[in-house]
Amino acid sequence: MFELAGEGFNSTFEQLVACMISIRTYDEVTIPTAHRLFERARTPLQVSQLTVEEIDGLIHTCTFHERKAAQIHVIAQRVLDEFDGKLPCDAEVLQSFPGVGPKCAHLVMGVACNQPFISVDIHVHRVTNRWGYVQTTTPEKTMIALEEKLPQKYWIEINRLLVPFGKHICTGNLPKCSTCPILDMCQQVDVKSHR
Ligand code: SF4
Repeated sequence: MFELAGEGFNSTFEQLVACMISIRTYDEVTIPTAHRLFERARTPLQVSQLTVEEIDGLIHTCTFHERKAAQIHVIAQRVLDEFDGKLPCDAEVLQSFPGVGPKCAHLVMGVACNQPFISVDIHVHRVTNRWGYVQTTTPEKTMIALEEKLPQKYWIEINRLLVPFGKHICTGNLPKCSTCPILDMCQQVDVKSHR
């Protein structure tokens, strides 16, 4: 989402659609898939004028593309009908759409709206628990714990920093502790073996 925003795809609607495409989909797939859709349609009006089948054809490379195509079409139409074609920066509105949970809603609020919201995916959840910074069992509980503990100035940035950190260094299996730059600050909670 941060990369797409840097390329200019930073409207609330574009960020929401890109986040939906990214669910259960690799970054290497998400970004070209979002590009393919946005080259054809990047506003709620333009997307609403496509059929669900056309949207599906454009995003077919991402996981659950049929369901996501239908959801994206519904969202575009609702934005036209209820918000005059402009998706507002409102986390409750975002979460009222099909297929949008707190992770995507909060990411959009942070990246597109520049408002302090924490988006916790599995990487942010795993890393902050291994550090011992929070002690929780689900990403949802981690989000609440971080809201109580993390200074607000880091709320948007934590996702941008820890998602790639979790993918490449503090990986799910065999984290790269021996070369990790923050080894001496980490409690390595529940890390049984590492590289
Ligand atoms: S030391 Fe290991 S467990 Fe701790 S953050 Fe680094 S890679 Fe993750």
